[in-house]
Amino acid sequence: MKKKILISGGAGFIGSHLCDYYIQKGCEVCCIDNLCTGSMDNIQHLLALPDFKLIQQDITLLDTTSIGDSFDMVLHLASPASPPDYFKLPLETLRVNSMGTEKMLDIAKRCNAKFLFSSTSEVYGDPSFSPQPETYWGNVNPVGLRSVYDEGKRYGEAIVMAYHRKYNTDTRIIRIFNTYGERMRLDDGRVIPNFISQIISGKPLTVYGDGKQTRSFCYVNDLIEGIVRMMETEHHIPVNLGNAVEYTIIQLAEVVQKTSGTTAKIEFMPPLEDDPQQRKPDISKAKQLLNWEPNISLEEGLKRTFIYFRSHMKKKGEA
Ligand code: UDP
Repeated sequence: MKKKILISGGAGFIGSHLCDYYIQKGCEVCCIDNLCTGSMDNIQHLLALPDFKLIQQDITLLDTTSIGDSFDMVLHLASPASPPDYFKLPLETLRVNSMGTEKMLDIAKRCNAKFLFSSTSEVYGDPSFSPQPETYWGNVNPVGLRSVYDEGKRYGEAIVMAYHRKYNTDTRIIRIFNTYGERMRLDDGRVIPNFISQIISGKPLTVYGDGKQTRSFCYVNDLIEGIVRMMETEHHIPVNLGNAVEYTIIQLAEVVQKTSGTTAKIEFMPPLEDDPQQRKPDISKAKQLLNWEPNISLEEGLKRTFIYFRSHMKKKGEA
């Protein structure tokens, strides 16, 4: 019997890579996505396959009984995830992580399926120390611009644990740190697509604030491997997934230039509200529980991402 996998946000950046993975493993994949930030381009190659099904629908409005009850796994990836996206879609972001998470949990409970919630390093807010272990409860502004995402995900984690405790639902929570790679949107607004598209179109690199804030960047294939391993184990506590190598945004700008073989001016812009000043995952739990750590260096991942962005910008006539 083929395993049946339900992936919300399956047309998004990370969700579509998961659809690919499970299709390649011989599973039946049902992708549910309202395309508010996802894209048909990401799943076009899957649409004609008999084992792939797309339901184009907002999960917060879904009648969960209409979707069948035979899923083996439910992976909840649906949510705007880049700051410009969730600033534009504040209520949608809150709803998909609250009501949307509950609907997906209901499906998992009914099917007796394994469930995964994709949480985020944003639950740590602007952390008081680094690296951040899963035991750190965070420093989040509950009424700031980013709160729709941060608090949405924190609520999501809470309801996941409530389902696990009350109904014994087989849940998992991953906290994803900055991830990049093929299928990110060119206009997603995050730092890597911004820098790469700026390099390709010969524009200055926009650095918000003084550029001394840090992030740690994980290549998407590494992340997918971590998620798949998480599905194969039974850990209900949150697990950080990300690359532990930390860069300041200025250092990132240098690596992007070096990888592209081009130099670009840096244009300093005003800092963003509540922009976390440091972010670096403590991945000891993932190493210990999943025997997982990232393998792809930033240079290598950026090279691959450049190839993808160049061909996409060419198609759109922007390069
Ligand atoms: N950033 C930047 N220039 C850009 C886009 C982002 O300097 O064109 C900075 C942003 O202020 C943040 C970091 O890069 O400190 C990462 O931002 P991103 O939006 O990629 O993700 P976040 O980790 O903030 O969710």
